[in-house]
Amino acid sequence: MTTKKQKGWKDLIKGGLIIEARNSVKYRTGAWRSLRPIRDKSRCNNCLLCWVYCPDSSIIVENEKIKEIDYQHCKGCGICASECPVNAIIMIDESDIKDEAEKKGGKDG
Ligand code: SF4
Ligand code: SF4
Repeated sequence: MTTKKQKGWKDLIKGGLIIEARNSVKYRTGAWRSLRPIRDKSRCNNCLLCWVYCPDSSIIVENEKIKEIDYQHCKGCGICASECPVNAIIMIDESDIKDEAEKKGGKDG
């Protein structure tokens, strides 16, 4: 009778390796999003709480003010909208966006 040898850890296919630091920026995770945060600039006081809480570093800040939302990487979790103290961010359904350029990513200006 022959016994089948079990695979050892060295025989397994490698996976889940991050061999290059900061490579996540190469992947357009914004395509996963079903809801899109929209910022009302007239309400926003640039407190930057949304920037602090965004888990995907998708709130882009320049000179201590929000420059834009990076829709190429924002996954639409809605944390920014929940944390905004003045309700300056609303989440809208991606399917409500009709403009093709907007759908592909665009950036909040
Ligand atoms: S929806 Fe989530 S990922 Fe997108 S900007 Fe807001 S906190 Fe960041
Ligand atoms: S949390 Fe709200 S008010 Fe503060 S910077 Fe973000 S959008 Fe503006």
